[in-house]
Amino acid sequence: MANVKNSPGRDKYIIAIEYLKGINREVNLEKAYQLTLEAANEGFPYAINSLGAFYLNGMHVASNIDSAIKYFLNAYHLGNPKAAFNLCYLKQKGIEHIDLVESKDGYFSKAVEFALNDLQRGENIALDFLIEDIGATKERIDYLLKKHILSHPICSICDEYIIEKNKPFKDIIRFGDLGNLNSLGKQDVIIALKADPIVTKGLSCYPCFVKYVQPMRELFFDGFISRTHLDDIMNESLNSIENRLELLKNAIFLYNMKKIYDKKKPGSI
Ligand SMILES: [Zn+2]
Repeated sequence: MANVKNSPGRDKYIIAIEYLKGINREVNLEKAYQLTLEAANEGFPYAINSLGAFYLNGMHVASNIDSAIKYFLNAYHLGNPKAAFNLCYLKQKGIEHIDLVESKDGYFSKAVEFALNDLQRGENIALDFLIEDIGATKERIDYLLKKHILSHPICSICDEYIIEKNKPFKDIIRFGDLGNLNSLGKQDVIIALKADPIVTKGLSCYPCFVKYVQPMRELFFDGFISRTHLDDIMNESLNSIENRLELLKNAIFLYNMKKIYDKKKPGSI
C-alpha cells in the first residue's frame, strides 16, 4: 500500500499542528499558519481543511465564513474526513449556504467514510480524528474498518480501489475467505481476488491478478523466486509502488526468458 508519509505537504502540516497546539514546540500561530498554507498549496487535503478552520475561527486571519466554507468544500471534494466533519458542524449550527448541499447527517457519514478510506491507506491522522473528534473507541474503529475494507477493497498491488478500477470485471471470480462479503449484503460486488503469494494478506484487482499474481504464483511454485525475495520486492518501506511493479515485471520477464531458453536447449548456435 502507498506510503502516506510521502504525501506532498504532509510533513509541513504535522509541524503546523505542533505549532498550533504547542506539541514539542512553543505555540506559534504565525508559523502554524504559514506551514499550513504551504502544505495546502502542495495539495495536502488536511491542510486545506485547516485553512478553513483558520478562517472559521478568525485565527491569524480575519474571520470569514465564506472563505472557511470554500476551503472546507475544497478539502471535502478531495475526500477529507475533517472537512466533512466541519461541514456537518456548520449545518448543525444552522449555517445555510448554497454550496452546502448535503444534510448534517450526510456530512457526518461522509466524515466517517472518508476517515476509513484514509485509515485503510495507513493515514494515522484519520485514526486520531476518529478517536478525538468522532469519539469512536478502538473496538468500534476496528469493526468499522473491517466492514469498510470488505465493501471498499483496495488492490494490494496497485493500490487502486478494486471496484472502481474493475467495473467491467464485476462478476468475475470469488475466492476463499471473501465469503463473508455475503453477510454484508454485497453479493453483487464480489470481484476481489486473493493476492497470494505476492502479499500474504490482501486482495488484488483483476488486471493485477492477470499481470502479476498468476505469473508470480508460477515463479513461486517453480522455486524460481523465494518467499524472502517476494517479501523484499513487496516491502513498502524499501520500495515505492512504481518500484515494486517494476521489480515484479522484471522477475516475470526473466522467468519467461528462461522458459523460452529451456525449450530451445541445447541453446542457440
Ligand atoms: Zn491492482
